Order: sequence, then structure tokens, then C-alpha cells
Amino acid sequence: MKPNDLTRREFLAAASASSLAAVASTSLPAYADITRRAGKLAILGGEPIRKNKGWPDWPYVDDRIVDAVVKTTKSGIWCRIQSATGTVPTFEKEFAKLMGSKFCVATGSGTQALHTCVEALGISAGDEVITSPYTDPGTIASILSARALPVLADLDPASYQLDPADVERRITENTRAIMPVHMMGQAADLERIMAIARRHKLSVIEDAAQAHLAEYQGKKLGTIAPLGCFSFQSSKTIAAGEGGAILGDDEELMDKCYTVHNHGTSRRGRTEVIGPKYRMNEFEAAVLLAQLAGAQERFRRRNENAAHLTARLRGCPGVAPQKLYPGTTSGSFYLYAMSYRKEQFNGVDRARFLKAVASEGVSLSPYIERGLHREPWVDHIVQTKAYQKTFSARRLQQFREEMQCPNCDRVCAEMAMIWASGPLLGTQADMDDIADAILKVYENRDKLAAI
Ligand SMILES: *Cc1c(COP(=O)(O)O)cnc(C)c1O
Repeated sequence: MKPNDLTRREFLAAASASSLAAVASTSLPAYADITRRAGKLAILGGEPIRKNKGWPDWPYVDDRIVDAVVKTTKSGIWCRIQSATGTVPTFEKEFAKLMGSKFCVATGSGTQALHTCVEALGISAGDEVITSPYTDPGTIASILSARALPVLADLDPASYQLDPADVERRITENTRAIMPVHMMGQAADLERIMAIARRHKLSVIEDAAQAHLAEYQGKKLGTIAPLGCFSFQSSKTIAAGEGGAILGDDEELMDKCYTVHNHGTSRRGRTEVIGPKYRMNEFEAAVLLAQLAGAQERFRRRNENAAHLTARLRGCPGVAPQKLYPGTTSGSFYLYAMSYRKEQFNGVDRARFLKAVASEGVSLSPYIERGLHREPWVDHIVQTKAYQKTFSARRLQQFREEMQCPNCDRVCAEMAMIWASGPLLGTQADMDDIADAILKVYENRDKLAAI
């Protein structure tokens, strides 16, 4: 019998009874080397799993990117309207092609992309849009900027994504659209959300701001609904400091997006509708264009590393990696996320677990502390003239009272994640460090009360 056929408890007993060195020197892969995890916790004075080792840097920089920025600087073409063949129009074509979409409009941020879509769909004061409380504030900012009402539905606590049943419960006569968020760069339950939208004749805007290149049911996230939005903010897996993009196949709707994002001025040169000025600049597009080719290779690497990490953590009852929906074939791995199971750690709270793992040289983050349903904007808008004029007092009161998302509260309390854009570009040994740090703390959970 090989050591990995033994249960962990039996193996520990066997290993301590004989010789750990002998076991470790068999042909087992490095990660099965439990001697790494058998020692004293670093937080109690033991050797850390990972010492003096950095992670791959993010944002990603190479000479191609630097050269592209220099070239744009020297060209004097700094704004997209100066040239139809500049970096912004070229990036739009290349990004649409890469993603399998017909049209792209680049913007100055993901929030701007989302707001442009809300405006292009004619959603405004008096309308409601259902979205997630567990997301970047930009998601709801895009709805609030149009003076529409962001109605927050609760989550599936295992996937951290919108619960379609709760979305459907929150539809009112004013609901115009659903804005599912692909959290952590993994697919929301889009099959059910798209079916609900069809049944109730609602638009769908995919918030794929974290989900570059991720695939679900054979399609890239952000290309399944009529409109999908991306962010290229520094931390995202394709980055340009700030930046965003809208993808879509409907020419007329995408033309409207262009008009809205261009202060209401169409490609025909007429100023036609209400619109902010949200154009991407040529420097941002230069950085993005130069980074697109390698983006797929980095995406593959993150997916390989994530699969290894998930396999390593699967047997540990103390943490549960993010649940994925059927049809999910890859993720962006902007974040690698798992739920901390306190009851499996003798009731030790998450803060102590995170501290112990950090001492082993691996940093996990609790991420979003409070869901957006618990932020002050909720009280702010019910006291704001624009909302008081366009919604009945009864609707605003109901909106306030129903702003409860207990599953989201639970996700916020249990989350333990890794900012993955850079770190998941590391080696398999780096992934083993992450897994071993977590497993070591789990195996020493009876000592955590003392820290
Ligand atoms: C980053 C992000 C946004 C906002 O994008 P910005 O480019 O920062 O404006 C929106 N939604 C989600 C899910 C995000 O992660």
C-alpha cells in the first residue's frame, strides 16, 4: 500500500512510528511530502512553509508593452477620434475577435462600460435593475448613475453568485434588466438567469469585469447576454491601469453604446442622446493591445495552477473551493476563492486562521467585508429627491426593508481568497506552498486557540 492510500490519520501514525524521511524519499510527488506540514506552526515559532519567496508581479509588464506606449507617445495620436486606425479602434477589433463577439466599444473603466449599457438600453429613473450585493461598487454605481434602482438579490453561498430563485422573487413591474456578476471570474448561473430574463422579458447585462477569457457552455463569459462588460483596472487579469470594454453582437445596440459613451454623439457626427464622455484613450489601448497575445497563455497557466490547487485542497474539510456551475470549462482566476469552514477548525474564527496561514508565508484575504446591501448608499438614495420623485414612498420603504441578503453575509464571513492575477502565474511548487500552508494550519487546528 502506498502512503497516499492511507487516511491522513493512519498515515501520520505510521509516519511517526517509522521514519518520515523514508516515506518522503519514495516516488511520491512533492506535495505528498507531509513532513512539510508536520512541523510546528510558524505562528508558534516553527519553520514557515514559504520563506523569502515572492510571487509573479502584477500588473504584467514586458518590453512589447513599454515599446507600444513609447510608439503611441511619439505618434501624437493620443485620442481615438484622431485616427480610425489608432490603438483604440484596433484594440476593439482584436478584443472582439479574441472573445468571439461581433462588436466592441472600449471605455475608460468597467463601471463606465456598465453605465453605458444601462443608458443604451434606455433604463432610467423609475426603472429597476436586479444585481448582486457581492461585487465591486462599480456594478451598482452604473445603475445609480442612471438614477435607476439597484435591487440586490441574495447569493448561492457555495458559488458566491446570484441565486436565480431570489432574482426571480425580486422582479417587480418596474424591473427592466438583470445584471449578473461573474464573481471571481467564474460563471454565474447564467442558464437559469437567461431563462428568467426571457420569461419576464428583461434585458441582461453581464458584468464580466473579472471574467476575461473564461468559458461557460462553449462560450466566453461576457458574450452570452446581448451585452457584456469588462474592466482593465490594474488588478484584473488583463490590465491597463484603468479601462473597460463592452461586447455585443447586435449592431444597432452596440452603435447606441458608442453614441452614449461619446457624450451622446453618434458615429454620424450628430449629438443625439444623453451621454457622458467615457472614451478609452490611446495609451490604455496600446498597453492592452501589446498584452493580448500573451494573455491566453497566462490564462492557461492560471487555469492549470488553479486545477492543481483545487485538487490539493479537495480532501480538506476545513476549506471549500468555490462551487462551479455545470458548463464551466475555465475561469479567469482573477481571484482564487474558498470558504473557511469554522466548524471544521474547532470553532476557531477566520481571523486567526488567516493569521496562522500568513505566518506560513501565504497571504489569504477576506475580500469584501460587507455586502453592498449593508453600505450607506441604501439609506442615501431613499432620502434623495430623484428617487423620491420617481418611486412611490411605499416602494422605497419596501426596497429598504427587503435589503437583506443573509447568504451574502455568510459568504463575507467565510471568504478566504488569493489575489490571483499574478500569484497563479507561479510554478506548481508555488501552488503547493499555498496548499501546504492551509493544510498545515488545518492539521494543527487544535493549537489555534493558543494564538
Ligand atoms: C472591477 C469591477 C468592476 C468595475 O470596474 P472598474 O474598471 O474598476 O470601473 C465592476 N464589477 C466587477 C465585478 C469588478 O470586479
